[in-house]
Amino acid sequence: MFSTEGTCDWCKKPSVLTQLNYIDGKSNHSCEDCIELATLDVRQFNIAEQRQMERQSVHC
Ligand SMILES: [Zn+2]
Repeated sequence: MFSTEGTCDWCKKPSVLTQLNYIDGKSNHSCEDCIELATLDVRQFNIAEQRQMERQSVHC
């Protein structure tokens, strides 16, 4: 964790970052200050995405 240097995708400040992966294959990077919010964001996105996939598979 926190091994990459770059710009945080949440606060847009240069920092040491950790990578967060989305269910659709995308990823964002968060600094230590934003990690709680970032984790929550990614989790909520993944839950929403999973619901949508389940909904789609029901119709197919
Ligand atoms: Zn940040």
